[in-house]
Amino acid sequence: MAGQDDNGLRAHQMTWLSDFVPLVGLETVQRIAALAEPLAGLQVQHINSTKHGGGVAEILRSLIPMLGGLGIRADWHTLAAPVAFYEITKHIHNMLQGEAGTLKDEDWRYYEDIVLGNAHLVDRRADVIVVHDPQPLPLVNGRGDGRRWLWRCHLDLSDTNEGVWNALTPFVNSYDHVIFSLADYAQPLDKPAAFVLPAIDPFTIKNRPIAEATAKACFERYGIPTDKPVVTQISRFDPWKDPIGVMEAARMAQREVDFTLVLLGNLADDDPEGQRIFAQLVEMQDEHALVLDKGDDVELVNALQSWADVVLQKSTREGFGLTVTEAMWKARPVVAGRVGGIVHQIADGENGFLVDSVPEAAARIVELLKDPSLARRLGNEARETVRRRFLITTLLERELELLR
Ligand code: UDP
Repeated sequence: MAGQDDNGLRAHQMTWLSDFVPLVGLETVQRIAALAEPLAGLQVQHINSTKHGGGVAEILRSLIPMLGGLGIRADWHTLAAPVAFYEITKHIHNMLQGEAGTLKDEDWRYYEDIVLGNAHLVDRRADVIVVHDPQPLPLVNGRGDGRRWLWRCHLDLSDTNEGVWNALTPFVNSYDHVIFSLADYAQPLDKPAAFVLPAIDPFTIKNRPIAEATAKACFERYGIPTDKPVVTQISRFDPWKDPIGVMEAARMAQREVDFTLVLLGNLADDDPEGQRIFAQLVEMQDEHALVLDKGDDVELVNALQSWADVVLQKSTREGFGLTVTEAMWKARPVVAGRVGGIVHQIADGENGFLVDSVPEAAARIVELLKDPSLARRLGNEARETVRRRFLITTLLERELELLR
């Protein structure tokens, strides 16, 4: 048919969507194109708190142009707010993930005032508005027309602080739909909930293949030794990612095997707590354990995730854990906390290891460094898991179904 390529895709969809055919198969790609067809011209606006750092920004950076390539007019805006606001929202974030505590009335008022001061962000022409996570949640108070409002929560709510959740519930119930990453995080609500797992784009600079020589040059640029094994964790400097536990596990494992630990992170705009944790870790570093805040260098992230001997993600709460997916895609053996979304990615002993403590993490590091064939087997299995379940085409398909 005119205007279609050999795969039956229309001209504007051909190039990028066809690139996925060898990875996910023609049928998947054709299903996506068919789902998008009746949505052409739809206007969708995504709103979150930062363009920079964290899993939400990572997904939107790929998803927005993909939706555009499917004929959907997708846009992405972020809140403008002072640091004091992010101190409060980080506290809300932590309590939603299970931390004890409450918020003062004046902090609730400030939170709401700042968000409502961003009401001008809402695009009056949008048919669907997708608001991500608690930071911009109260924006829905300014609705008042027939457009569809979706709240997309990426947090691990399995053990949420009920007081804080209850305080947010009136906002959540003002949305038309709520999307959680997993059914385990669902909460009692008046509105229908859907579940969508995050996923990675295999064609970004972070996720595409990187040659060993390029990776090593990158290591050298940052003073990472290339003459011994490298064990890494790449994450925001956040208590739930347990960077201190990673340090301790590495110290314990280093009594038996020699390697360099690289703790890499970036400092997200909406996470002032990260600066403090980074400073604490820097105090602990030495020639066996490097702490770097250069995580905005995506080539370095790729180099470490592709060529480290072991990748850690020792989280104690984790909505999903894209860093786990990214390292698994690069066929690395991943040792990760048995929590949240991680357990939906790693089957213990089959495509990685799940751990519950510092000594367990240390033991798995030693085991993997001593047994490269085990590391290879787990890594290959990990890549196949991601190919089948966690590439962005799966996410795109779910999003299109929801938009319909
Ligand atoms: N990330 C990065 N550099 C860093 C730390 C994290 O690019 O120094 C990226 C990471 O590669 C992943 C995202 O930020 O794409 C983190 O997502 P994840 O779901 O693992 O955790 P979140 O930060 O959303 O809790």
